[in-house]
Amino acid sequence: MDFQDNANQAIWRTEVKDFLNEYLPDEIRNRYPSFATSSNAKKTPEQEAEEEKWESWRVALAERGWIAPAWPKEYGGAGMGPMDQFILSQEFAERGAPRLGGLGLMMLGPTLIAHGTEEQKKEHIPGILSGKIQWCQGYSEPGSGSDLASLQTRAVRDGDDWVINGQKIWTSLAHVADWCFMLARTDPDAPKHRGITYFLLDMKTPGVTVRPLVNMTNGHDFNEVFFEDVRVPSRNIIGEINRGWYAGTTTLDFERSSIGTPIGLRQAVEKNLDWLREHKDDLPETTYAAAKHDWADRWIEVQTSTMLAYRIISMQDAGEIPNSESSIAKLFTTELSQRVAKSAAQMVGMWGDINDPKAPLKGMPGHGYVNQVRETIAGGTSEIQRNIIATRGLGLPRT
Ligand SMILES: Cc1cc2nc3c(=O)[nH]c(=O)nc-3n(C[C@H](O)[C@H](O)[C@H](O)COP(=O)(O)OP(=O)(O)OC[C@H]3O[C@@H](n4cnc5c(N)ncnc54)[C@H](O)[C@@H]3O)c2cc1C
Repeated sequence: MDFQDNANQAIWRTEVKDFLNEYLPDEIRNRYPSFATSSNAKKTPEQEAEEEKWESWRVALAERGWIAPAWPKEYGGAGMGPMDQFILSQEFAERGAPRLGGLGLMMLGPTLIAHGTEEQKKEHIPGILSGKIQWCQGYSEPGSGSDLASLQTRAVRDGDDWVINGQKIWTSLAHVADWCFMLARTDPDAPKHRGITYFLLDMKTPGVTVRPLVNMTNGHDFNEVFFEDVRVPSRNIIGEINRGWYAGTTTLDFERSSIGTPIGLRQAVEKNLDWLREHKDDLPETTYAAAKHDWADRWIEVQTSTMLAYRIISMQDAGEIPNSESSIAKLFTTELSQRVAKSAAQMVGMWGDINDPKAPLKGMPGHGYVNQVRETIAGGTSEIQRNIIATRGLGLPRT
């Protein structure tokens, strides 16, 4: 297998590198954009200066259609093919260049382009691309996660509106979101996949209550969302009534190839290796011996996860749709992220229990160890990925 760029790919890579050299401000490297853009609170001069950096970065990306490189040009994208997107993602990840747009860009945008009416696209795509409108995803419910099609939140027709009652959970960023894309049951008598409709909901609608859920790193990004007689107009339905399952699952993400994660993991391993080299003589001999082997294993695994990302992008580039291959990459890479975090925590010994900037590696081993737990749950748990690999990949019977 040849991993070298061909002539056109090499030119494209240089173009992306030149762009990053010229337009990526150091201040926003390896950062996430703030979600408080719509806040009216008075800003400090530092906050204003930072917002200007973000805005000029956004404009530089938007002018090239690089906020949503895969989207058609008519909707503000660059109509980019999978390999060019992959090279773009690779270079952005290497340099810690932040991508913009949040869940609206990643998940709703492609769904709208595939299933939305022209009116819906006109109404929502500009806010997604500008980052001015934040979206959250209202899919999971207390009794419906892996088995999402069993969801119970109800929507009942009343004239030209639908009235929604029920509850969502684990709704990331619902507390800062302006809008929510959500699934609700509209025909309780139909087989479970066939009675679901896909709605767009303005989070300011009366009857919506958001309650925070604080996670085990003490961070707040999840929420519970309750709906009490929430009215949504029919024009906010995506696709057909009772066919929302199909629109909801078409949200295939060709936008960001999975290369960002292996590159991030490689960078994490490199940081730990730097620390180990520098502190070798401070560590007990046995700790150093164990760490040396541990990082050798992690290094091999990072190469493997990079190969899995290459495999997916090669399939996409050949016009194939990855299926169990995506599950293999997701499973391997997320479980690897936990092993990397564990190796770091073991290397620093009890300091791995101290989440403080003064601890070794600025307290990241402890924080990372706890924070990575979510990786094998979000986006389909490891068990569900193994089911997919076993049945669709290996052809084993479901039961
Ligand atoms: C970081 C993060 C962000 C998230 N953000 C959102 C969001 O914005 N919006 C949203 O709607 N949801 C969100 N979720 C929720 C996520 O989609 C669910 O947690 C996930 O689908 C699993 O569902 P569950 O938590 O209900 O677990 P369950 O489905 O109840 O699973 C519990 C356990 O049983 C196992 N299990 C279940 N079914 C099977 C099976 N058939 N075979 C073998 N094992 C099985 C699971 O693997 C798991 O170990 C987020 C989750 C995380 C971690």
